[in-house]
Amino acid sequence: MSKDYSEEELSQLPFRDDSLELEVRVNDLLSRLTLEEKFKLCSGRLMWNTKFIKRLGVKSFTMYDGPHGVRPDTMGKTKSTYFPSAICRAATWDPDLSYEFGKAIAEEVREVGAHMLLAPGINIQRSPMNGRTFEYQTEDPHLNKILAVATVKGIQSQKIAACVKHFVCNNQETNRFTVSSEVSERALQEIYLPAFKATVQEADAWSFMTCYNKVNGIYGSENYNLLRERLMENWGFRGFTVSDWSATTYTSTEGCVNAGLSLEMPTSNKYSKRNLRKVFQEGKFSEETLNDNIKRLLRVMFLVGLFDDESTLPSGNRNTLEHQSIARKIAENGIVLLKNKEALLPLNIDELKTLAIVGPNANLKFGGGDMLSGGGSSVNYPPYEITPLEGLKQKCRDRVEIIETPSKADVTILFAGLNHEHGMDAEGEDRKNFELPSEQIELIKRTVKQNPNTIVVLINGSAIPMNGWIDTVPSVVEAWYGGMEAGKAIADVLFGDVNPSGKLPLTFPKKLSDSPAHKSERTFPGVEEKVFYDEGIYVGYRYFDKEQIEPLFPFGYGLSYTTFSYENLKLDKENFSKNDTITVSVDIVNTGSRPGAEIIQLYVQDIESSADRPPKELKKFKKVKLEPNERKTVELTLNFGDFSFYDDSIHSWVVEPGTFNILLGSSSRNIHLQKEIEYLD
Ligand code: BGC
Repeated sequence: MSKDYSEEELSQLPFRDDSLELEVRVNDLLSRLTLEEKFKLCSGRLMWNTKFIKRLGVKSFTMYDGPHGVRPDTMGKTKSTYFPSAICRAATWDPDLSYEFGKAIAEEVREVGAHMLLAPGINIQRSPMNGRTFEYQTEDPHLNKILAVATVKGIQSQKIAACVKHFVCNNQETNRFTVSSEVSERALQEIYLPAFKATVQEADAWSFMTCYNKVNGIYGSENYNLLRERLMENWGFRGFTVSDWSATTYTSTEGCVNAGLSLEMPTSNKYSKRNLRKVFQEGKFSEETLNDNIKRLLRVMFLVGLFDDESTLPSGNRNTLEHQSIARKIAENGIVLLKNKEALLPLNIDELKTLAIVGPNANLKFGGGDMLSGGGSSVNYPPYEITPLEGLKQKCRDRVEIIETPSKADVTILFAGLNHEHGMDAEGEDRKNFELPSEQIELIKRTVKQNPNTIVVLINGSAIPMNGWIDTVPSVVEAWYGGMEAGKAIADVLFGDVNPSGKLPLTFPKKLSDSPAHKSERTFPGVEEKVFYDEGIYVGYRYFDKEQIEPLFPFGYGLSYTTFSYENLKLDKENFSKNDTITVSVDIVNTGSRPGAEIIQLYVQDIESSADRPPKELKKFKKVKLEPNERKTVELTLNFGDFSFYDDSIHSWVVEPGTFNILLGSSSRNIHLQKEIEYLD
């Protein structure tokens, strides 16, 4: 019989004693739960909560979307800071900004009384056509990992759980509830899993969200190999797993329990008490297994302070100036200058008299303002959003006249791109077209004829081709979806108050068929409920390099208003063995006339290998700020693991003796310096 406790008695129970060790508290609470109460904890209620257990004072654990701002309700009644989309944050290549973002968003989660943020989304950008590319970070596993770890650390610094999603190979929206991602072990190990693994091993992520899709034939929510074996046993994950919303639909109760799915969201289906009871009585899962799933959830409840005196927890806050300035800083740092012929940019506010501002994205709000769908679950509702037009009006006030007629202006800025309508950058469907809408292409061509000094600013969340117009336009800027302060950030970059330093976190192909996932229907979006990752490890620039295909803009690319030179590449040794670290140092000099920041990229190339390997792989990077003529020496450290590949035949990471090349560049296609090093067994 379960005992009823008075409030007084409850407060005396060991699990309520915050001076006890976490595991003691978890075990104490677990030992007091009846089987039925355990069943109750396995599924959610009211969309964003777990069920409470009044008898034991177990409150409801609350979780909200999403990756760009916390959204407690779907009607927009609660306003919150709208941060730049994940792809924009990734274009900063700055883990400190990801940490600041994570910390700030977690403060907002705390302020609205919740315990977990359903973010970050860290699926690899396998195809530019994925409707959720804007919600994810990059095509590269190393950049993905560094930024994911920083984000999770930032979120959890506030005792708010991060929920790393969608585990794994949820790389498209087409048929997302049924498709099976058919992927090789090597591609999993080298491309799709590293960032997930690092959030566990380097940031102690407290929660993982399973994917809708199957991975090699088995749904993510009941995938024993992915959850129980890899995540929990191999990586040492101590948190809990939650299904994506209704991702259990086509699974079985016992499959999910045994695989290690702790929580089914948003309500009970496979984890209804009736189903759990029945399947348990049939002996299809043990109480020990169930206990492990429950313990994981309880552990995180303790970690976020669900049982602690609220006054002892980090205090939350929301819509502060500080959060808004973090949003602005990310937007400024994420903007990528793609083209700047004849240095049309930056604009000189003292010389410019008339500025024409045109294009469909000039005055759109991309948060939950004009676009109520906001792209799906990542929408949130900011208290305000500065559009590009507004930002430019503020900047130009009383100094430059803003008009709408390109032919009458000194310079025209044309805001093109996509938005969060279905079929563009939005959840639930993939993009319908790779090209910009044809009316926009026509508008660009027409405008450039009317005014050759036309700058195209793109607002979108994935790669687009620029056929037929890029050559005619002197300057092109990729501004992404930059959050609630985007307009100010864009104006600052266009007028040179901020020197652009963002770099592309994904390759921009010239045409879709150049892209590795787009060889046939089989590779995207799949046939007969299977999508074949035939490109294997050759995702993004790895493929473009291997096939020697010229991209429109390569991975890691981005211009500045100043120039940099790379000098004096040195390695502290000529050869290395397994336990050595290698210090790579390089001088970077600002050779132009403005302060600026450069993102130095280090790629490793295996010159000779028994296995097929990409021509280069990003292993380190660093953002360096420099005044004009300033020189800094940057040190980057490599170790054994940075030279390895996953050998399918022996299920292990391998480094083969021989020569490697260390490449230092300002993009994956602009390598300035290189030096060889020998690995001795
Ligand atoms: C999305 C998740 C999201 C969840 C809750 C799902 O449709 O895939 O990313 O967190 O809904 O809104």
